[in-house]
Amino acid sequence: MRLANVSGRLAIVTDDVAVDVENASGRQFSADPQAVFDRWDEFTDWAQTVTVTEGAPVITSTLQAPVPRPGQIFAVGVNYRDHVEEAGLELPEAPFVFTKFPASITGPYNDIELPEGSVDFEVELVAVIGRPARHVDADTAWDYVAGLTLGQDLSERELQLSGPAPQQFNLGKSYAGFAPIGPMLVTADEFDDPDDIEISTILSGRQMQKSRTRHLIFPIPDLVAYLSSILPLSPGDLIFTGTPGGIGWTREPPRLIGTSDELVSRAEGIGEMRHHFVQAHPTTISRSATHV
Ligand code: ZN
Repeated sequence: MRLANVSGRLAIVTDDVAVDVENASGRQFSADPQAVFDRWDEFTDWAQTVTVTEGAPVITSTLQAPVPRPGQIFAVGVNYRDHVEEAGLELPEAPFVFTKFPASITGPYNDIELPEGSVDFEVELVAVIGRPARHVDADTAWDYVAGLTLGQDLSERELQLSGPAPQQFNLGKSYAGFAPIGPMLVTADEFDDPDDIEISTILSGRQMQKSRTRHLIFPIPDLVAYLSSILPLSPGDLIFTGTPGGIGWTREPPRLIGTSDELVSRAEGIGEMRHHFVQAHPTTISRSATHV
């Protein structure tokens, strides 16, 4: 099943036709795309009974984030070997986890404000939790995943890497619009192998990143098991699973995002996001301030 957020309303997408869930269910299910995760099992049972009788063609500009208000967003760093190497870091012994604050979520085609500094791209597969998960085994972890979407873990590297250790990962990766996701949420059964999906970044026509999620050091079941052993995961939570090699910051010279760039992100079986950038208001406190 493919789910979309069409102008703020939950829709099931079949053959590029979107069926409005609230209308098709006789108001049994809410139009709110976030509300579906609280009744995920009930919803998927009902969705199997739906026959598509009428719908509207999907217009990409109307698509918004398929998970608009996640309670928690986990993000995993250094989870591909080639990215570990380009970052000059050691292979992690356990998942390296930080957060992207939920207010950084935006849609697959929205313009994104570009703050001053060095803004970089990180294409990632994003897992969406579908059932309350606590102390879940990796063997059964897929049962707790509603589906997969595509994301960019946009990162302002100067803020991310500023200050005393541990550095400001959470803020540097949480500027408004720095967590675009979409264009759809796709359930795991739609993939030949949900642990082996190609993801890529094309920046202004040039391919910058391309890998497959089978190269993840800690794949999705391991991440769900690890995180749920520490705290409860709730339906609608997101896990950004990490980015492969090819980021802009470690290139010689660095290739960072500018206001004239178009950032295209792709995931096999999920689709494409397309982002343009506009100048943001200045950040209030200069990062050259010395009064830390
Ligand atoms: Zn990342």
